[in-house]
Amino acid sequence: MARPGDAYVVAMSSVVANSPSSASDARAELLAFAGRPAGAPAVDPRPDLIGLEREALTEALAGIGLPKFRTGQVWHWLYHRGVTDFQEMTTLAKPLRAQLAETFRISRPAVVTRQDSVDGTIKWLLRFADGNEAETVFIPEEDRGTLCVSSQVGCTLTCSFCHTGTQRLVRNLTPAEIVGQVLAALDHLGGYPTGAPDRRLTNIVLMGMGEPLYNFDNVASALKVIMDGEGIALSKRRITLSTSGVVPMMARCGAELGVNLAISLHATTDPVRDELVPINRKWPIAELLEACRTYPGVNNARRITFEYVMLAGVNDAPEDARRLVGLIEGIPAKINLIPFNPWPGSRYECSDDDTIERFAQIVLKAGYASPVRTPRGRDILAACGQLKSESAKLTRREARTAAAE
Ligand code: SAH
Ligand code: SF4
Repeated sequence: MARPGDAYVVAMSSVVANSPSSASDARAELLAFAGRPAGAPAVDPRPDLIGLEREALTEALAGIGLPKFRTGQVWHWLYHRGVTDFQEMTTLAKPLRAQLAETFRISRPAVVTRQDSVDGTIKWLLRFADGNEAETVFIPEEDRGTLCVSSQVGCTLTCSFCHTGTQRLVRNLTPAEIVGQVLAALDHLGGYPTGAPDRRLTNIVLMGMGEPLYNFDNVASALKVIMDGEGIALSKRRITLSTSGVVPMMARCGAELGVNLAISLHATTDPVRDELVPINRKWPIAELLEACRTYPGVNNARRITFEYVMLAGVNDAPEDARRLVGLIEGIPAKINLIPFNPWPGSRYECSDDDTIERFAQIVLKAGYASPVRTPRGRDILAACGQLKSESAKLTRREARTAAAE
């Protein structure tokens, strides 16, 4: 089972935008082009095979006259063996390899930097074809290795304690870019199912930047590729999606994907949650918890994780702890208390150790084990909200100036 709380700390992949762009906005695309950093590769016109679900891959291959049985072969090379060059697909005849290479590409985000923490946590800064960048974090533990991936560049939501919330959404990540974060990590960890007796990457948490349920279609496609048993083959039990509470999408997420769910609860009253997680004004606590009670597949073996960031004087009183356990009563649940990671300009402070301990004791007495997670990767600034400040995106004006130059 995933222990999503283990990964909150590294916050996860953080995405930083180098360029404002939006798929539907030609002007924004121009700006995005202008914002592409020097040295970023020109866009490859060949369609990418990465991120296509099986049926879509079959269709793409049919486009060059390949029969259906080729899908399984190509899939095996893409995701079970992790090749990035069609020439390595040695079970295919050479002319076929050449034909594939002429028509398609196999994408990978470029690794800009890699940082290793003393505790074993690894953070990669990845760059996508249009110059946007994402940080993906790997957190090894004794019995598992968790990769924290992002779903969007930036976030449309504005949670007041989250650095990501201060950045407007630039764009959704594509299925290829979401799968690409996993493939890039596997490339570096040597973790493809074959040839890797000790498989290091065992779990995935969608706890990076962005709200995954606001990019559901792309996230769903990516997860279907990741969960496919003949490829990366990580089961739904090893994948956890974290949401701030997009209530109408939760049932679909459970029914279509069946992954574990984590809820960014963070408060026990609507006025406080309205302030911390503004999406609460749309879907308040009662509606959110009702969607949790009815989440498809939830039971005692598959619990919902409630994430709760500890903010001094805001949500950390003993009565909050008592209200918290009262609110989730009857829901098969785990609780992760997350020490707040401050960022430049943040208006909150992390609760002190005694306060967190007192809060945790109340939660423990109510039957929820070890709720406080130890931060990981702090020495490489891998904690939530610490990453974004490292990399500035161009303002529209800067991009326009760059375009004119
Ligand atoms: N958008 C999704 C998933 C990404 S955030 C969501 O909100 O659930 C992953 C987790 O990190 C969330 O629980 C989020 O509330 C928490 N988080 C954000 N900023 C933080 C900070 N500065 N310190 C600690 N946790 C933070
Ligand atoms: Fe977006 Fe999640 Fe940050 Fe809220 S906590 S702003 S939903 S990334």
